Amino acid sequence: MKMSIVVCGRSLEDFLNEIERFHGFRAPGLVLGGFMVDWAQELIGPNVEADAIVETAYCLPDAVQIFTPCTIGNGWLKVLDWDKFAVTLYDRKQLRGYRVWFDLEKARSVPDLYDWYMRRVAKKDLPLEVLLDAILEAGRYVLSSGAIRVTGHFERKKKGNTQICPECGEAYPATQGATCFACQGKGYYERR
Ligand SMILES: [Zn+2]
Repeated sequence: MKMSIVVCGRSLEDFLNEIERFHGFRAPGLVLGGFMVDWAQELIGPNVEADAIVETAYCLPDAVQIFTPCTIGNGWLKVLDWDKFAVTLYDRKQLRGYRVWFDLEKARSVPDLYDWYMRRVAKKDLPLEVLLDAILEAGRYVLSSGAIRVTGHFERKKKGNTQICPECGEAYPATQGATCFACQGKGYYERR
């Protein structure tokens, strides 16, 4: 394991420890995602107020939340559930930024990484430590980047009118209808 590298402004040890603390373990996708965020940050530069878009709901959102100020909760991170391993950081005023993605063609020369990403290998046949070493060894080598202009999905969610549900008494957005989604039977729970 190379110990001298710096990722997202941190030593490799700090980088991996923060991932473990936030995510529960050193998830390969999150370690790879850290390298992606690192590159996107470098490309966009330190003085830009950047919003983020990730193209998968797995791992990559956490890389953005750990290593940038963008979170789901503050609305600066948008998660597209496309199952594509790509992240964009962009200037929220100019809508110009950089997209970094896992480049499958480049990854062909790192078989462990390729097989893991393409889900061709069972977890038991590829120990986490081996996979992590392959990711740390590869770093940006399996990634590509490009300058982009953001043309969609950048709108900040606006809050609409709030009203009180006549059935449950909880506040809900008026756009849901005469009663809240839960009381319309569109919820995820029933009362016990
Ligand atoms: Zn209700």
